[in-house]
Amino acid sequence: MFDKILIANRGEIACRIARTARRMGIGTVAVYSEADARALHVESCDEAYLIGPPAARDSYLRIDRILDVARRSGAKAVHPGYGFLSENEDFARACAEAGVVFIGPPPEAIHAMGSKSNAKAIMEKAGVPLVPGYHGDSQDPARLAVEADRIGYPVLIKASAGGGGKGMRIVREPAELAAAIASAKREAASSFGDDHLLIEKYLLRPRHVELQVFADTHGNCVHLFERDCSVQRRHQKVLEEAPAPGMTVQRRRQMGSAAVAAARAVGYVGAGTVEFILDSEGEFYFMEMNTRLQVEHPVTEMITGLDLVEWQLRIAGGEPLPLAQEQLAIHGHAIEARVYAEDPARGFLPAIGRLEHLQEPATSGHVRVDTGVREGDEIGVHYDPMIAKLICWDTDRDSALRRLRQALADYQVAGLATNLQFLSAVVSHRAFALAHREPGLLDTGLIERYQAELLPAQEPVDDEVLAIAALDQCLRVVQAAQQRASHSTDPGSPWHGAGGWRLNQDNHHVIGFVDAGTAVQVTAHYRPNGYVLDLPGGSRSVSGEVDADGAIAVEIDGARMLAQVVRRGTELTVFARGRSHRLELAVTDAAHEAGDEGSLVSPMPGAVIDVLVKVGDAVVKGAPLMLIEAMKMEHTIAAPADGVVKEVFFAKGDQVREGVELLAFEGR
Ligand code: ADP
Repeated sequence: MFDKILIANRGEIACRIARTARRMGIGTVAVYSEADARALHVESCDEAYLIGPPAARDSYLRIDRILDVARRSGAKAVHPGYGFLSENEDFARACAEAGVVFIGPPPEAIHAMGSKSNAKAIMEKAGVPLVPGYHGDSQDPARLAVEADRIGYPVLIKASAGGGGKGMRIVREPAELAAAIASAKREAASSFGDDHLLIEKYLLRPRHVELQVFADTHGNCVHLFERDCSVQRRHQKVLEEAPAPGMTVQRRRQMGSAAVAAARAVGYVGAGTVEFILDSEGEFYFMEMNTRLQVEHPVTEMITGLDLVEWQLRIAGGEPLPLAQEQLAIHGHAIEARVYAEDPARGFLPAIGRLEHLQEPATSGHVRVDTGVREGDEIGVHYDPMIAKLICWDTDRDSALRRLRQALADYQVAGLATNLQFLSAVVSHRAFALAHREPGLLDTGLIERYQAELLPAQEPVDDEVLAIAALDQCLRVVQAAQQRASHSTDPGSPWHGAGGWRLNQDNHHVIGFVDAGTAVQVTAHYRPNGYVLDLPGGSRSVSGEVDADGAIAVEIDGARMLAQVVRRGTELTVFARGRSHRLELAVTDAAHEAGDEGSLVSPMPGAVIDVLVKVGDAVVKGAPLMLIEAMKMEHTIAAPADGVVKEVFFAKGDQVREGVELLAFEGR
């Protein structure tokens, strides 16, 4: 076995590979781009080397630089992860020439499967069933039209070199063919530098079922059962599960044998995935083989109890397969959801920005989170915007699904848009939930078919969420007043109270919010043990308290629940009942003035690392007054204008919550 390996990747897969290597006592070397200097994968490895600028072609795709790191670090093998160089035969060859083991198949096998047309020709010979189609060399439009007629419409045009759904076009009738060929060729040429196309019968309501295979250098090959990846959006996987709903023992055996035959036909070694498409009758056809570890490999790990990265390492080290086919068995059911920084309301546009708040569900033997980011990290433009893979396991599909629903509800992200609510809607939808009971419910068109239900229009904020936001605001005001009082010379003074105390008036406070552009007001009436809130739907008694982590225990009309309100400036994200809602705190004119001149508030939760002024100091605009450290970064609180420091509410070393007043300041 190797003493040290280089992980030529980033993000969750680099972290995941490092975890197994560490458990096996194997040293790890990370490579990173300038954008990833502080990334989790760098921290997860024993050593790390900078390989270039952020753009992947200048860093993670640079074979020369990666092999140079292998040489400098003394790594004996390279794990390519998925994506980047994982299916690049030149890289596999260059590794061999550099005397480094490529943890993957031989370059010839990558080559054979690299072209969908070529792979189909090989599979045809090996007796693996193919979707009716044309995968010949001729690219003459007239010939392609004849072939499309022979296959029968609708047909699907695919780029031979394709991946990620690029260069794919559905053609419903002959009149559309020429234009579709031209545009598929353009996309294929620009994405893969190769515009060769093939044509397949376009199957209606198909399922995507793939088989995990493993082969060693001693001539053994097994399959580790199937994964169903039918829940897709634009031909991209959204949910993956194992075993496939409704799979029979006999069909699994047939597909397993076909997958093993496919791997053997190309002299495969290591982990691979043979993808099949199933028609509505359950007949299966070879689609392609991915010659690497798949994103969705964890569901196979959860149902087999095996570590597939460990298998990869052992096989690359020359060991035989750890288990034979008859020693492999399925236990329970696992489902994976891909959590993405993307905005379903805006056509799933990738979202970039900082993960201001990130709270993952509690992990256990049932719940696994594979991620490459942590709170405070940026999701940038250079790489895939996946935040994490959430995988849940249980003894049966219903129970696994229940766990997944709960885990998705517990997943909190603020700062950028995510698909979490969309994922919750999909896993709660009856078509997915009942897929193992009613054959025919699950196919690759599921999301499109139920789009209206899965992507409901943004609903106006409900009273419960408003009540939580208003309560949080009231509690913050009280807390800020208490902090002020404890730092003042006269802590008992009624002027420090935040009980809404007013002479001859009901004690109340009006809080303004903006919900998707609409102003909403809540009036809070102070009561001895809480508040009565006047909400759009009526009045409710609300009380509660905030704990150190910012979680808020709320009681609304006698019902208790846990919620969380995350703030970024005036933007609030309220997490309650497994959902999140964004609100804007309306800034009143008075608050504006105060913000400009009267008070200086903490921009985020953190610690005071220094106080640079004292009460009575006259300062000029921009003068540093206080230093706050938050998320390992320093923030300077500066004078907003020329003026005088009236009060200093915190001392060096104090912890401050976001939004609390730090100093009172009077402008001149
Ligand atoms: P890529 O390599 O670009 O991901 P694939 O060949 O793996 O492309 O196909 C991606 C998805 O497209 C499949 O999972 C399936 O949903 C759909 N698909 C592929 N071939 C067909 C077909 N012949 N009929 C219907 N849908 C198909």
